[in-house]
Amino acid sequence: MKKFDIPVYYKSNLINKIKELRKVNDPRKKDYSPALLEFGNFSVYLARHFGFCYGVENAIEIAYKAVDENPGKRVFLISEMIHNPGVNEDLTRYGVQFLTDTLGNEITPFSELTSDDVVIIPAFGTTIEIEQKLNALGVQKYLYNTTCPFVEKVWKKSAQLGEGDHTVVIHGKYNHEETRATFSHTVKNAPAVIVKDMEETKLLARFITGEIPGNEFYDMFAGRFSEGFDADKHLVKVGVVNQTTMLATETQEISDYLKEVMITKYGAENIAHHYADTRDTLCYATNDNQRATIELLNTDADFAVVVGGYNSSNTTHIVEILEEKFPVYYISDESKIDDTGSISFYDIHKKEEVHSSLPGGIKSPKVVITSGASCPDSVVERVMGKLAEHYDAEFSIDAAINSYIESLTT
Ligand code: SF4
Repeated sequence: MKKFDIPVYYKSNLINKIKELRKVNDPRKKDYSPALLEFGNFSVYLARHFGFCYGVENAIEIAYKAVDENPGKRVFLISEMIHNPGVNEDLTRYGVQFLTDTLGNEITPFSELTSDDVVIIPAFGTTIEIEQKLNALGVQKYLYNTTCPFVEKVWKKSAQLGEGDHTVVIHGKYNHEETRATFSHTVKNAPAVIVKDMEETKLLARFITGEIPGNEFYDMFAGRFSEGFDADKHLVKVGVVNQTTMLATETQEISDYLKEVMITKYGAENIAHHYADTRDTLCYATNDNQRATIELLNTDADFAVVVGGYNSSNTTHIVEILEEKFPVYYISDESKIDDTGSISFYDIHKKEEVHSSLPGGIKSPKVVITSGASCPDSVVERVMGKLAEHYDAEFSIDAAINSYIESLTT
């Protein structure tokens, strides 16, 4: 895979070394089990896959290049580059300003842009409406597009579904930048509706079966369907795509469920006409990270720490998976753990930061550690160091690497 030039402060010697060793020992990525790192009496189960993905490294490289190549010019990002507060703050310090917040509200009015400004499209991509706005303002000369190729792949899939006269059901969070961009690109070629989970899919299915009359659709799915959507006409032939960072199992359930609904309504012999049997459009990083997270459930860890931005979709799903077995502390960085062992972490159910203490009274604590696709490895390393310190263990990188190498031979 292509190597990107990202700032050195995002890298971790320890994690680089472990990832390299894993790659050498498992070049075909068949082994999703974690690496066991020992820091004396404190042990870490480090996930097989986590951290910056292709799209994030690509976006960071281009964003820094955009600043370096345009001294003296104003440089704007359409919205957060990726969902990691530290990375976005670093970009701000490097001179980048934001045009909108994550919900699309303007921070710097687009009307203030001139054709001499540099504009960066984030990894999530952007909507056709914003692309048109930028074109109208003459902002093409200095446009840097960091849209991830795996997001563009989803747009291509939607276009193919549209060519086959399918309505596109988008499994995604409708306020998420990527889903807004995918929706916008999809409706160029096909009617579309967004569902965020199984509950909304079941509601949609009741319109497909006719259990709820079509005229009630527009209130129930307000803001989540394409212009001109006709609930009586546009739910007879559907295909599913998803935001690239959704939970793989949920997308599969949604696809399977809609297929069953179509079979019940139109008969198995006619299913090919009413349902496009496509594979999910999750990206490789989401798949790898979620599979590696599932493997973490097989460990005997006492608790789990997940590192990432609180608005990161892929990180939230990692937390959901780990919650099946462990107490999970979802933190943005090491500053969330103080010297007394108090920890401030994000509760994905309450949607707020809560406070607690790290588990105590454990003789040899073992912790699962992983992060989302937008979290620098250096932050994960610092979190590991802070935890080692709390549990009175020496944070020796060499000893941790040696313990991992030894574990390979035993
Ligand atoms: S998570 Fe996937 S789709 Fe999103 S930027 Fe990374 S590789 Fe691209």
